[in-house]
Amino acid sequence: MRVLVVEDDAELGDSLRRALADAGMLVDLCGDGTEAEFLGVTETYDAAVLDLGLPGIDGVTLLRHWREQGAAYPVLVLTARTRWGDKRAAFEAGADDYLTKPFLHDEVVMRLRVLQRRAYGRAEPVIAVGGLRLDTAGQRFTLGGRPLALTAQEHRILEYLMHRKGQPVSRAELAEHVYARDLDPDSNTLDVLIGRIRRKLGTPLIHTERGRGWRLAAPDDGDDPAA
Ligand code: CA
Repeated sequence: MRVLVVEDDAELGDSLRRALADAGMLVDLCGDGTEAEFLGVTETYDAAVLDLGLPGIDGVTLLRHWREQGAAYPVLVLTARTRWGDKRAAFEAGADDYLTKPFLHDEVVMRLRVLQRRAYGRAEPVIAVGGLRLDTAGQRFTLGGRPLALTAQEHRILEYLMHRKGQPVSRAELAEHVYARDLDPDSNTLDVLIGRIRRKLGTPLIHTERGRGWRLAAPDDGDDPAA
């Protein structure tokens, strides 16, 4: 899960970035409203955490611009402003959730996971494919009822494939959601990581979609014998 954090308080932004990274998320931190406005529509995010009082452009205006330009990912507003008028303005501009400071880092993490799950149209907190299960709230994978040990990168890849289960996911799409900026999606890094995950899974759950990337599905659901 790739998240844009827009926060001009450097200390707070840094602690938030560490908390989200510890929770396995890939974080871009931005302290300037104008730069954030650009990033929010040019990069691919699964969610954003947005402060309202920002240098350059106000958070509500920034959010309205994101939505006008088609940014559809969930946005959690995180602000010191507690008045109803501020909340209403944020929701009217396109916010999905609103949390006031002070806050618990764990609560931000949990709300982001719920927002992501909802963004993929899921109500149930557990996603299952074959014997593989992902508890999206606790971010734990199990395979045949036993914990599955994955590195942070492997976890992000498999998590994304789980959210998109049954659908083909292209190389570029996967790279955008699991890598930080500036990594070449054409390198064979993804193939190496997919190979490692396949070995850990044992059963063929990740099917190769020729020319289109990969698709996560139960073994009897796959139509590609080469996968
Ligand atoms: Ca601020």
